[in-house]
Amino acid sequence: MKCTACKKEALIKLPRHNSTLCQECFQKFIQKQTLLAIKRYHMFAKDEPVLLAVSGGKDSMSLWQILHLLGDQVHAIHIDLGIGDFSRNSRLVAEEFARNQNWPLTVIDVKMETGYNIPETLKLTHRPACSACGLVKRYLLNRYALANHFPVVATGHNLDDEAANLLGNILRWREDYLAHQSPILPSFHAKLAKKVKPFYTLTDDEIRTYAQFSDLPFCDEICPLSQRAKSLDYKKALALLEKQSPGTKHYFWLTFLEINERIFQSHRPAVPFLECTRCGMPTTQERCAFCNIFYPIEQKENL
Ligand code: SF4
Ligand SMILES: [Zn+2]
Ligand SMILES: [Zn+2]
Repeated sequence: MKCTACKKEALIKLPRHNSTLCQECFQKFIQKQTLLAIKRYHMFAKDEPVLLAVSGGKDSMSLWQILHLLGDQVHAIHIDLGIGDFSRNSRLVAEEFARNQNWPLTVIDVKMETGYNIPETLKLTHRPACSACGLVKRYLLNRYALANHFPVVATGHNLDDEAANLLGNILRWREDYLAHQSPILPSFHAKLAKKVKPFYTLTDDEIRTYAQFSDLPFCDEICPLSQRAKSLDYKKALALLEKQSPGTKHYFWLTFLEINERIFQSHRPAVPFLECTRCGMPTTQERCAFCNIFYPIEQKENL
């Protein structure tokens, strides 16, 4: 099997792109796909400072390395969620890599910021684990971006994450979520950073192979709180469909992006943003969901 690009021995098949690639050409392919995604959606310009959320997993570690290779102005941020060994090991990977590369990294500890780590936070709310954890991460990331003048926050969400999310949103017909599901979420308010996902065309397997070919360290542990996450079921369902009919997952997600604007975004109601009466961050209610979790007594007093 020869590499379609350079005719050396190929190591990997990419049926969707009708090619077989050697290690070096595969790495270049992933880097090029990332660059194309950034350009296609005007995610950020070369001189724009980007705040990259680095969990320590394969996706964010690969994106960190690629954005540096592409010459982007990246500042990484790791949020220590306090989920036992999983968080300790993830943080170590990110910190050690930053030290070895001499790349900037800020670590935020959820417990220091809120008084509670994520397992403790779950006792304060009825939200499922990933919903509460996601909300806390998004809030802290946005607050840090705002305070430190980063107009853009990038994350390592990939095609499998987005396809699973899409399936979940369709199964429950969450029109509002569907309208907002995109590789780029523009800033709707002066206190909201733009959110971008440069890996939206790349699969779990492609990124794992990239990280391994590039000798990147990453934490491969599964979050113990994810056991009951619906997104894992959706990923399994899509993997089954993909096995029966290769290409289904790509078609499902990438075609949705083509029709999303016509079908869902045009029906999107304009929701006016208020500012949270406690923290001042944008919200559609009187108080934001973050403050409702961590400051419920104060909320009752205000009522
Ligand atoms: S799997 Fe869920 S709980 Fe665990 S880190 Fe991810 S979002 Fe948080
Ligand atoms: Zn090659
Ligand atoms: Zn608030």
